[in-house]
Amino acid sequence: MISGASVAGPALAYWLHRYGFHVTVVERAADLRPGGQAIDVRGPAIEVARRMGVLDELRDHATDLRGMSVLDADGNETHRSTEATASGGFLHRDDVEILRDDLARILVRAGGPGIEYVFGDSIAELHDGPDEIRVRFTGGQERAFDIVVGADGVHSNTRALAFGPQERYLWPLAGHLGVWTAPNFLGLDRWQLVHRTGDQVAWGALVMSVRKNTELRVYVGLNGLDHDDPALRDRESQKKLIAERFAHARWEMPRLLSTMWDAPDFHFDAGAQIHMDTWSNGRVVLVGDAGYCGSPASGQGSSMALVGAYVLAGQLKAAGGDHRAAFAGYERELRPWVTANQALADRMIDQAEQQDAQADREEDADDSLPAAVDDSYYAVVDDFTVRDY
Ligand SMILES: Cc1cc2nc3c(=O)[nH]c(=O)nc-3n(C[C@H](O)[C@H](O)[C@H](O)COP(=O)(O)OP(=O)(O)OC[C@H]3O[C@@H](n4cnc5c(N)ncnc54)[C@H](O)[C@@H]3O)c2cc1C
Repeated sequence: MISGASVAGPALAYWLHRYGFHVTVVERAADLRPGGQAIDVRGPAIEVARRMGVLDELRDHATDLRGMSVLDADGNETHRSTEATASGGFLHRDDVEILRDDLARILVRAGGPGIEYVFGDSIAELHDGPDEIRVRFTGGQERAFDIVVGADGVHSNTRALAFGPQERYLWPLAGHLGVWTAPNFLGLDRWQLVHRTGDQVAWGALVMSVRKNTELRVYVGLNGLDHDDPALRDRESQKKLIAERFAHARWEMPRLLSTMWDAPDFHFDAGAQIHMDTWSNGRVVLVGDAGYCGSPASGQGSSMALVGAYVLAGQLKAAGGDHRAAFAGYERELRPWVTANQALADRMIDQAEQQDAQADREEDADDSLPAAVDDSYYAVVDDFTVRDY
């Protein structure tokens, strides 16, 4: 039984089903959740997608950006690149940048009708036993499974139930991010804009045309907010806070902000990572953000989720369903790569801070890409061999 139907959950369901396991996926939301930023499928995750037979479909739905411009507070272009974008990195690579919700939909469909999806429910209690694990759902049902997998994201409910409170494992990082969809009233043609407001807190926005230029995905970034502010847990207060903090922003920001209120997919969260000494406890195991969230700054959350799902399913197959052996093999095989990828986030944050400081110091000094990736970044991303099971 897998909790969570975004990236890690459906990818794991696909592989387990293909290997002959019976799989149930339980998602708290009433349907697949819309929204989220464009994420990157890179390096070994490309190979996993190829083996799933979804790579061409991912490419069909890719953001397919041609490049990006950096704009100052008034909207004047200070830098332009057709080699890389801030969200997707180098454009000459084989990577696929795709909206998270498009990726999730494609992964669910690839799994086919043999996987049971239950929406609008969540785990309320877990009872781990010698032969099975019993699950009581918030909807009231009780069922027994061989293993339970938490693929329910950075705020994983499965993790809280099986490993203890979030505070033990969540490392807050600098920055909060708000993301939503707007109509493409800027007329962007496969292009990305990074707008720097010059403000220390509401530092800027990233806007890109997506879905064949029919929509914009708008990201706003804020620094220095209190991670524990309870007001930030409520969606309407999050929107109010963004509106307040960006009230003085110029360029097209007032219009972009006006689309936030009714956006069907508004998403807001703090930058954070999950660090755990072990990803399994008894018959419960974690995959993706639930076990090793890298944060948006790493640019590797979805690739880690896809590769993690592939390895976990492969180890379960190789161990003939012996969960203890499989969970140990999963950690042994995946952890070094995950650790190295999580460390990328610190580097990206440091680099972005240095660039912001430089932009503040010298008015026209900003001729570099925001949080630019380089060859050493990709050396880490690519340093994993996808083995056969
Ligand atoms: C709506 C949304 C927007 C996102 N936006 C961004 C973004 O802008 N930037 C970024 O870096 N990352 C974002 N993420 C996270 C990003 O998708 C992941 O970093 C990455 O793709 C790894 O995916 P995952 O499947 O491990 O976790 P996630 O993509 O976080 O998926 C977790 C899934 O579990 C479900 N879930 C949560 N709690 C429960 C529960 N109690 N019971 C059952 N199901 C549950 C969620 O609804 C979700 O579908 C977003 C995720 C979601 C769901």
